[in-house]
Amino acid sequence: MDCIFCKIIAGEIPSTKVYEDETCLAFRDIHPQAPVHILLIPKQHIPSLREITPENAPIAAHLLAVIPQIAQAEGLDNGFRVISNVGEDAAQTVKHLHFHILGGKKMGEQMA
Ligand code: 5GP
Ligand code: ZN
Repeated sequence: MDCIFCKIIAGEIPSTKVYEDETCLAFRDIHPQAPVHILLIPKQHIPSLREITPENAPIAAHLLAVIPQIAQAEGLDNGFRVISNVGEDAAQTVKHLHFHILGGKKMGEQMA
C-alpha cells in the first residue's frame, strides 16, 4: 500500500522512534511545529478518526492511553496539545490515523 506511515512502520522509511509496542508507534515529525512534535499512529492502517468504529475503538483507546506516557517521557509536565486532522477541511495530508503531540512551548489560544 502506498502509505508513508505504513512504510515507516515496516522500516522502509527511517524515523526517529520515541515509543513502540505491538499496537502503535510514535516518532518525531519530520517538520516539527513545536520543540516537541511527535506523531502517534496505530500499526493497523486506519485512514483517520472518521473510520473509528466500535470494533476498532480499542486501538484508538490504546493510543490515548499511551499519550500520557509519551508526554511524561518528553518532559511535557507543563502541558501539551493533541491534534488529529481528519479529511480535507482539516488539511489532513497523510491518510493514516495519527495524533500530533505538541509541546515544549506556550501555545496560542487559536486552534484553527
Ligand atoms: P497531517 O497534516 O496529515 O495531520 O500531518 C502529517 C504529518 O506528517 C505532518 O506534520 C508531516 O510533517 C509529517 N510527515 C510527513 N511525512 C513524514 C515522514 O516521512 N516522516 C516523518 N517523521 N513525518 C512525516
Ligand atoms: Zn498506512
